[in-house]
Amino acid sequence: MALELQFYNSLSRKKEVFKPIIPGEAKVYSCGPTVYSRQHIGNLRAAIFADILKRTLRYAGYAVTDVVNITDVGHLVSDETDEGEDKMEKAVRLEGGDPYTIARKYEELYRGDLARLNIIPPKFMPRATEHIGEQIKFIEVLHEQGYTYRTADGLYFDTSRFHDYGMLSGQKQKEKLPGARVSVNKEKRNPADFALWKFLTGENKEHIMRWNSPWGVGFPGWHIECSAMSYKYLGSMFDIHTGGIDHIPVHHENEIAQNACSEFIQKVSFWMHNNHLLLNEGKISKSIGNVIDLDEIAERGLAPLSFRYLILTAHYRSSLNFTWNAQVAASHALMRIYNSIIDIRGGSDADIPDEAYRQKFTECIFDDLDTAGALAVMWDLAKEGSLPPGVKRATFFDFDRILGLDFRGVLAKRAAMLLPEEVKTLLEKRAFYRANKDFKKADEIRAKIAAKGYEVRDTDHGQEAMQVSS
Ligand code: AMP
Ligand code: ZN
Repeated sequence: MALELQFYNSLSRKKEVFKPIIPGEAKVYSCGPTVYSRQHIGNLRAAIFADILKRTLRYAGYAVTDVVNITDVGHLVSDETDEGEDKMEKAVRLEGGDPYTIARKYEELYRGDLARLNIIPPKFMPRATEHIGEQIKFIEVLHEQGYTYRTADGLYFDTSRFHDYGMLSGQKQKEKLPGARVSVNKEKRNPADFALWKFLTGENKEHIMRWNSPWGVGFPGWHIECSAMSYKYLGSMFDIHTGGIDHIPVHHENEIAQNACSEFIQKVSFWMHNNHLLLNEGKISKSIGNVIDLDEIAERGLAPLSFRYLILTAHYRSSLNFTWNAQVAASHALMRIYNSIIDIRGGSDADIPDEAYRQKFTECIFDDLDTAGALAVMWDLAKEGSLPPGVKRATFFDFDRILGLDFRGVLAKRAAMLLPEEVKTLLEKRAFYRANKDFKKADEIRAKIAAKGYEVRDTDHGQEAMQVSS
């Protein structure tokens, strides 16, 4: 496949051919969840986007190292002005208990959501609270080089010292803000300046998560965690940094400033941002009661993977309005595609994907992750009547390496449902013997199953039995 991968780079505001820093490798950092509450379906859109990106890089042959951070301290209530109470501490006020327990609870729920959406677990999922030393070290470097100043409530980064501040959002330091960001901290030298380290003052006086630092007891600002952890896990130069578009004007602008000014001189080749999922044409927000999570989708009898399907119907750079009608339509579409895969009869596992279809599919997905186009190719394949059955099935499986809609799993489940009772019973016995490492007995049972016309295979998700095609 000679096609080149192209991604839209938020930094240059155009599509660029992806060229890795190290040949054959791709290093990706994605801003992950703030674990003060359940991640909503908008947040999950960001996670699905990062997963599609990773699967595409793998499909293109890259060895991917990916990091998704867990923000369990320092993300303040006002994203825009970077002020207010820490979201974790607010959750303590509302839920009771302690911030660590709350953080771990929502992190677990998030991991569960990732699994239900067939998102491949990231290689690293570092927690901000477990990297305080790294963050302090990063701040120390900025401090020694004169990029910081102290106010009553923290140690701040002086954005006027970084000439390119605003390069990502395209706003100049002077024109950015005063109107847009009304800061309550009158000691800030520039409206865009942000805290690297917060002291225990004001709303954060009672902050439970607290650490010693050269500047006093307190906790790190939100932006420094991503700079410190991406440096630790991916090094001083890496390929792609992702996040939602809400991160462009503040969080990522601040990361870029910190990185450029530190001696770590971190450089990111591609900044990629997913647009928002909207609900009722508006912002998904807990505070205005406009929020849905994955449980609610499941409670309505819709498979979580049908939500993944819905997200794939839109380009990641377009906004998408969530409606229950659209979600139900996505569920129907997914069931239809499952049925057309189930309906493919015959062929063998040795069959390989069709190259012409692969080409069409790749043209879409390599063109800045055009998942909607890729789904259209998948539907063409479903209607295709001239391919040998095994080739058609293999092509679906090949597409699913990126789509992640679990085509193999569906076939396995379906095949299991269709098995005669006696074969099911034999399979259970075989699983028992295998679990007890009695492979001799297990093989005897395999032979019994074979005598009934079924072949057993051991896969990642357990045994599978298929009727041997005659
Ligand atoms: P948070 O938990 O707020 O730190 O956000 C986690 C990720 O979800 C970040 O990359 C955000 O940019 C992204 N995000 C937040 N809201 C939405 C939304 N409505 N649609 C898509 N992505 C979102
Ligand atoms: Zn981040």
